[in-house]
Amino acid sequence: MNSNEIEIHKELKKYFGFSQFKGLQEQVITSILDRKNTFVIMPTGGGKSLCYQLPALIQEGTAIVVSPLIALMKNQVDAIRSLSSENGIAHVLNSSLTKTEIAQVKKDITSGLTKLLYVAPESLTKEEYVAFLQSVPISFVAIDEAHCISEWGHDFRPEYRNLRNIIKQLGKVPIIGLTATATPKVQEDILKNLDMSDANTFKASFNRPNLYYEVRTKTKNIESDIIRFIKQHKGKSGIIYCLSRKKVESIAEVLQVNGISAVPYHAGLDAKTRAKHQDMFLMEDVDVVVATIAFGMGIDKPDVRFVIHHDIPKSLESYYQETGRAGRDGGEGHCLAYYSYKDVEKLEKFMSGKPVAEQEIGFALLQEVVAYAETSMSRRKFLLHYFGEEFDSETGEGADMDDNVRNPKHKVEAKEEVVK
Ligand code: ADP
Ligand code: MG
Repeated sequence: MNSNEIEIHKELKKYFGFSQFKGLQEQVITSILDRKNTFVIMPTGGGKSLCYQLPALIQEGTAIVVSPLIALMKNQVDAIRSLSSENGIAHVLNSSLTKTEIAQVKKDITSGLTKLLYVAPESLTKEEYVAFLQSVPISFVAIDEAHCISEWGHDFRPEYRNLRNIIKQLGKVPIIGLTATATPKVQEDILKNLDMSDANTFKASFNRPNLYYEVRTKTKNIESDIIRFIKQHKGKSGIIYCLSRKKVESIAEVLQVNGISAVPYHAGLDAKTRAKHQDMFLMEDVDVVVATIAFGMGIDKPDVRFVIHHDIPKSLESYYQETGRAGRDGGEGHCLAYYSYKDVEKLEKFMSGKPVAEQEIGFALLQEVVAYAETSMSRRKFLLHYFGEEFDSETGEGADMDDNVRNPKHKVEAKEEVVK
């Protein structure tokens, strides 16, 4: 261990109270401290924030952190402030600030107090802010959730496409891209878009050995099948994803009628109800949340024991993210997806109103989901291959944790769903 490494261990302890780095954190931090462009691909929960927070805290100047969600930024700023006696150590810059607040933020940055400045990508396009940031020392620009740059990612944000131009105006500052989206296509897009093919790239494994993957043919008995499954997991927490709000409501109702404590969650419910239902799930007042994909961003319940997909997801990336909410604590996590070709057609119909380029991407992503559902090979191997990772389906960690491996003759057929 050289003196440099001892230093960053000390700083880790001092600021965060941790005695060890997690996974690739130390290598990433060293790369950032060397002022290199750095690209970090780690699954959700891998500890990406610390990778830029620690270097920001110990380097000269202010680090700009681009993040897509105001709520996430606020959480992070609060967390950083709690590590320090100075509120000004971290700030958010966005359109909701008053003139006085903006003046305070600028003052804290100019005086060197502010180490982390969180901004939404649309705020960064404001000329006034760019002019100000050009006049102060910037340690680096970190782009969190960097997959938002790519149309092949699961959360494309057009504003992210402008980031490179704005960063260029700030002079020669290192760029740090971070994402949990691992497909080679998205990675390529990010590097190209940020013009940082020279970046040091750090990629952690995406294998989740404690998750069990299973696909069942969707039949007209799906509701009683789900009820049976949940009763076999009595008292455990689980999420059921449905494609439509209507389906969310009707499944939640069927579960309630059958004595299962469940609440619906979708963007059509008012904010108060959504917050209430989310809290009920987190506080274990209910076992099951039936939800559209609106549910889950930033949900960190460690003991979710199952994730059921009533309808197939629109990409394997989404599937990985949504099932990834199971078994965060390392314990059991059963990921069950129902599959019928009718659903594929439904999704294709949804997409047919969109621009052609978007449709093509959508269809291609969907075909991968179909291939996953219909495969008879190790599902884990299939998923990890999709993320550009080789997996040995005999000796790899979690190798026997799927229906195809446990039951090699198993084959899911895309039976027509009989609509009642
Ligand atoms: P990501 O952004 O990759 O999803 P986060 O940055 O939110 O992950 O971190 C996930 C969790 O891991 C947080 O609760 C964080 O406090 C914790 N964590 C990060 N680094 C360490 C570490 N070195 N030791 C222990 N816990 C850590
Ligand atoms: Mg994160």
